[in-house]
Amino acid sequence: MTAQFSNFIAGESVRAARMLPNINPSNTHDVIGEFASGSAADVNNAVAAAKAAFPAWSRSNPQERHDILKRASDEVMARKDELGRILSREEGKTLAEGIGEATRAGQILAFFAGEALRLNGEVVNSIRPGVGIEVTREALGVIGMITPWNFPIAIPAWKLAPALAYGNTVVIKPAELVPHSAWALCDILHRAGLPRGVLNLVMGKGSVVGQAIIDHGDVLAISFTGSVGTGRRIAASCVASTPMKKVQLEMGGKNPLVVLDDADLRIAVECAANGAFFSTGQRCTASSRLIVTEGIHDRFVAALTERMQALVVDDALKAGTHIGPVVDAKQLEVDEGYIALGRSEGAKLHWGGERLNRENPGFYLQPALFTECTNQMRLSREEVFGPVASVIRVKDYEEALAVANDTDFGLSSGICTTSLKHATHYRRNSEAGMVMVNLPTAGVDYHVPFGGRKGSSYGPREQGAYAREFYTTVKTAYTFAG
Ligand code: ADP
Repeated sequence: MTAQFSNFIAGESVRAARMLPNINPSNTHDVIGEFASGSAADVNNAVAAAKAAFPAWSRSNPQERHDILKRASDEVMARKDELGRILSREEGKTLAEGIGEATRAGQILAFFAGEALRLNGEVVNSIRPGVGIEVTREALGVIGMITPWNFPIAIPAWKLAPALAYGNTVVIKPAELVPHSAWALCDILHRAGLPRGVLNLVMGKGSVVGQAIIDHGDVLAISFTGSVGTGRRIAASCVASTPMKKVQLEMGGKNPLVVLDDADLRIAVECAANGAFFSTGQRCTASSRLIVTEGIHDRFVAALTERMQALVVDDALKAGTHIGPVVDAKQLEVDEGYIALGRSEGAKLHWGGERLNRENPGFYLQPALFTECTNQMRLSREEVFGPVASVIRVKDYEEALAVANDTDFGLSSGICTTSLKHATHYRRNSEAGMVMVNLPTAGVDYHVPFGGRKGSSYGPREQGAYAREFYTTVKTAYTFAG
């Protein structure tokens, strides 16, 4: 009998009229469970519960909020191996990456437990005699969250933890491909003592559940991570709605990794292999453009190819696997479509890009490296979201920087060099939210801001203390004491 998972609404486990199967991408015979596919009526109930819970939760003692988040963190940490396994089974990243992500969720919960106690304001002198000014931060109200499939527990954690720490109530919809991790996180938060209605989980389709959250008049803010197209539509509807909704979007990337002639070749190859192909390239911070100066180009391509040949693509849960499957059949079709497009645009498929058969039926794809690419090709401009990277040959540092910045995105950007001058110049002039020197473009800390520029992000940054910019609203109070 397949396990069944219900929504959480007003502190209760609520069955949905329809269910969706959750399939393991490493083995499509493995049905992980049937998960609620909610309706607009479920969203209405969830928002009503969140609205009713808001007055008490937003005025609750910060010690209470701290303790709940800390208890949840402790449970996530204690169960990180099991949660990592749940995550890898439904998403397809390797078990080591799954456990790493579960650990990250635990760290985030602990960080924001502390933030609940640290929220402060300012007292400012007025320009008017006898008047005092106090600048404080307040919770917003009911926040809607829509999350993607590529970080099934870390992204829900980095949205939920600050929202709850600062006194908001929440309705969250995880991606339909990976509901189990978000379900487990919500279950843990409830058992940690969240009052009923503070956190509501409605699983299901974006076009039904996501849309109903966006359209609801009592949802005052939306935090979204996903594709540019959906993000743009969400932002437009948040601005058009009454009342207008505060909105935060994290979307795609076409992240450059510049490799200069003076780079340490071993470091450059590790950064490229990790950034482009680990997690099956399914990271918004993946290095999909490798911009390489001509003096090191051939050596870099040869060494990276050798590194790629050693990468084991197999079942995410199997020991020894470096790269798991693509998340589903639709994404595999997208990846293969871009591989065909790259060839038709005149790029050279230097290595990889073949579909692979493994012991169990799954969506296995060999990482693909294209050379002889230009930055004008669609392959170099559009986000693939798979293990596909283009090498773009450039003359010198100046051309490398110009090509790196010539993109509609601006999330993460990297450079491999031993030159302090070029590293410093690149950090200053890269048009991205995050810049990495001699590090992969993917892989960030949780206590500092995360986000980008241009088509990558919209609204305040996520993570670290900067999260308060989105999850609180500022009040300026003037008092004349007489
Ligand atoms: P991806 O292509 O990576 O799946 P999407 O932007 O389609 O990216 O999905 C990200 C999240 O947005 C998922 O939870 C998805 O269900 C949700 N979503 C998709 N379409 C809509 C929509 N019209 N309204 C609200 N949420 C949506």
